[in-house]
Amino acid sequence: MLPSLTMSETTRTRIAIIGGGITGLAAATWLELDHGIGDVVLIEASDRAGGKIRSRIDAGHTVEWGPQGFLDNAPDTLELATSIGLGEVLVPATDASADRFILRGGRLRAVPTSPVAFATSDLLPLSGRLRVFGEPFARRRPERDETVFDFARRRIGRQAAEILVDSMVTGVFAGDSTRLSLAATFPRMAAMESEHGSLTRALIAKMRAARKSGRASAGPSGPGGILHTFAEGMERLPRQLADRLGDRLRLTTPVSRLTRNGGNFLIETDTATIRADRVLLTLPAGGAGSLLAELAPDAVNPLRSTPTVPIAVLMASYDRTDAFGRPVDGFGFLVPKTEEAGILGTLFCHSIFPGQAPDRSLFLRTMLGGAREPDQAHLDDDALLSTVRAAHSRIFGRDPEPTRVWIARWSEGISQYTVGHLDRVDTAVRAARAAGIELAGSPYRGVSVNDCIRQARAAAQRLARTSH
Ligand SMILES: Cc1cc2nc3c(=O)[nH]c(=O)nc-3n(C[C@H](O)[C@H](O)[C@H](O)COP(=O)(O)OP(=O)(O)OC[C@H]3O[C@@H](n4cnc5c(N)ncnc54)[C@H](O)[C@@H]3O)c2cc1C
Repeated sequence: MLPSLTMSETTRTRIAIIGGGITGLAAATWLELDHGIGDVVLIEASDRAGGKIRSRIDAGHTVEWGPQGFLDNAPDTLELATSIGLGEVLVPATDASADRFILRGGRLRAVPTSPVAFATSDLLPLSGRLRVFGEPFARRRPERDETVFDFARRRIGRQAAEILVDSMVTGVFAGDSTRLSLAATFPRMAAMESEHGSLTRALIAKMRAARKSGRASAGPSGPGGILHTFAEGMERLPRQLADRLGDRLRLTTPVSRLTRNGGNFLIETDTATIRADRVLLTLPAGGAGSLLAELAPDAVNPLRSTPTVPIAVLMASYDRTDAFGRPVDGFGFLVPKTEEAGILGTLFCHSIFPGQAPDRSLFLRTMLGGAREPDQAHLDDDALLSTVRAAHSRIFGRDPEPTRVWIARWSEGISQYTVGHLDRVDTAVRAARAAGIELAGSPYRGVSVNDCIRQARAAAQRLARTSH
């Protein structure tokens, strides 16, 4: 008898990775590069690999849907990129992009890069600046997990917390500093306090160590690295990783169920059942929770308690550098909650990566939504554009017509690590691991591309050690 045409295909693999964002792609590649394991299948729901990383070249612009770049202070990302032949197409941000701004009182204020510059800057009122210098004498940390805002208010005062730190949280997480956990979102800051008793003392120690070793040290307000991208944009990285995987990458294959049969995992999709010895989930938290319902029910609630916030990205191009009647140079600006500007911030892409825009043009990328105003992310195109234009017009004093506009929306934009996040992650990871499943990616220990690639490498190592 002929086999039924509706019968689904069955594949066997040593390791199955579910989710083809940067974490899944990097994990599959680390398995090969670090451990020589190529018996891997990467299963992705959509018709392209890369998840949040998505770029398009249009009329001389490199349009980024998701991340604009990554900092070069994480060795894993650079190593991964160079190992797969992308070392030659790395593009660093310009020196001009070291100038960053924060909106306060409706005006853009430069973020100072040294304590001396901070003392005389107009970023905070004098009382706020003086309070920052009292940081070494602040109360010690409470035993429990604390919000980023509470930590900042305790150490550097309310004004700096509301303006400086809220902007930082907006820039990385599009999040609410009064809800996010310090230990989960800025673990280095938490460690600086517990190791040195004060951020100031920790920075001085770091600068001394850097001077001794002859290395440069980032200033106190610097991000501790230089932003990089690739020629043709960030998607170059996932595209190259996907090409290397070839037919081990299954696109347009949403996984609907994960179960076990004896020693094998059974991964069910519309068209195939994949049998695997080991499984790595690199999905957004909600999706990972659903797939773990049968095998690791204790992981479900902690994962469902990791919310994401929606984000809209509006990119606008202007064919004259004087479109706003003033120079628009530097990295861009962030907007603290106190400003109520309707936008989270704007990057000056033409100044950060000049190759991403035609000569003599301005190319601005504005974020909206996030935890602060989630509904903004769902505005229709016209409403988004008028919100951005109104905000820019108030800030720059002019409202020029953009030559071109691109809009991207992410309903599950960025994971939010609210207070207690690390405990919930521990519970979820323990429950999943007890069932033989690994978890990695932006819902867990860092949302940046660098964090995802680092987590992918650690997951690959555990899988290599425990699969045979
Ligand atoms: C607008 C924006 C700007 C950002 N800017 C920066 C930046 O400048 N620098 C930086 O470092 N980071 C930035 N980030 C963060 C960073 O891009 C992301 O955190 C990171 O790319 C997430 O990678 P991931 O692998 O964890 O998840 P994702 O990219 O979300 O990948 C998960 C994948 O799983 C797939 N999937 C879901 N369900 C299933 C299923 N059932 N079966 C199979 N597959 C499934 C999805 O289709 C997706 O491809 C930004 C994020 C956004 C949204």
